[in-house]
Amino acid sequence: MYLKGYQGLPRMVQVNRADSPMAPECAADKDIVTVYPNRLFFSADHYTYVLPPELVAKMQQLNTYDIITIDDRGILDCVFEIASQDATIFITGKCNSNCVMCPTSDCERKKDGFDDDQLKKMVDMLPSDTPHIVVTGGEPTLRTNLFFHTMEQVADKFSNTEVLLLTNGRSFASLKMVERLLAHCPQFLTIAIPIHGADSQTHDAITQAPGSFTQTCLGLSHLLSRKVNIEIRVVVSKLNVEHLSEIADLIANRFPSTAIVNFIGLETRGNCAKNHQEVYIDCKDSFPYVRQAVNILVEHGINTSLYNYPLCAVDDGYRSLCKKSISPWKVRFPASCDTCSAKPYCGGFFDSTLSLAHPPVTPI
Ligand code: SF4
Repeated sequence: MYLKGYQGLPRMVQVNRADSPMAPECAADKDIVTVYPNRLFFSADHYTYVLPPELVAKMQQLNTYDIITIDDRGILDCVFEIASQDATIFITGKCNSNCVMCPTSDCERKKDGFDDDQLKKMVDMLPSDTPHIVVTGGEPTLRTNLFFHTMEQVADKFSNTEVLLLTNGRSFASLKMVERLLAHCPQFLTIAIPIHGADSQTHDAITQAPGSFTQTCLGLSHLLSRKVNIEIRVVVSKLNVEHLSEIADLIANRFPSTAIVNFIGLETRGNCAKNHQEVYIDCKDSFPYVRQAVNILVEHGINTSLYNYPLCAVDDGYRSLCKKSISPWKVRFPASCDTCSAKPYCGGFFDSTLSLAHPPVTPI
């Protein structure tokens, strides 16, 4: 959102709607913006921004306890929405892998996130009863000190929150990194780590990072041996679809205490859009391979689920594994889905995937 004519400071503030204000004890000493019907009032410096008529309705979409940033050009970003119940803590866009099907764009992968003070301020502002927090990147462990400070801050503040750390796991090949994390980490922590192949040849070709398979496997072994709750993610592409059973065998034999394995359909943005011809496969075409891998894992007592798989791409007996995994603002359905009785339960498609790949659908 663009605040035309904004002349205030660049800032991060918590939203306080005048018609449903936060409790006075919550507002005290907070850097807040009070949203009135026709103006914004910033508590820190008493700056008032008069809303142009076209922004009046848009501002009503903000809720008390949302967290927003405004830069010096007046660009407003909502970095936490209380309505979503999920907070995302983005540490850095940079990554030490460069996966051929990564949905993050080149430009996003060059950016760091907030500086240390801003990130600390954001975590301070999050409600302490936030149910879910995702710590992510890029590869979040690359800003090592900031990563550990943030995990410590999260551990101290959120005693009942489920925290999901998304990492490629390579950093945890170092026992020092594992010990530092476990010395002070959130109580309900899950670490989600991708495996792209059953051997270095397939995995490293996908990450475009020689040695990454060995490091990721070592990281997984270290974390599992210390009883960390581990989710393994298998992003299904043309490059690994024929190896899914081997990946399932690897997990069942080498990492049997993995809590859950999620098979993930592609989002055709970033590298995935750029390398579309080489990597893209429809969920319908990949499902027969996914089914074999799921069967192997289930036989070994390992939970599985499917992310980004629309229901009609999956055999009847496996549909309960499909999660509504696409963020609501990115979900799209082609017109032919309107006749589908399963639409209310279906996770649909990424807007980007629908427009680039035109996947087939079969109304149920
Ligand atoms: S037809 Fe559309 S709504 Fe129905 S299962 Fe397939 S993708 Fe989902």
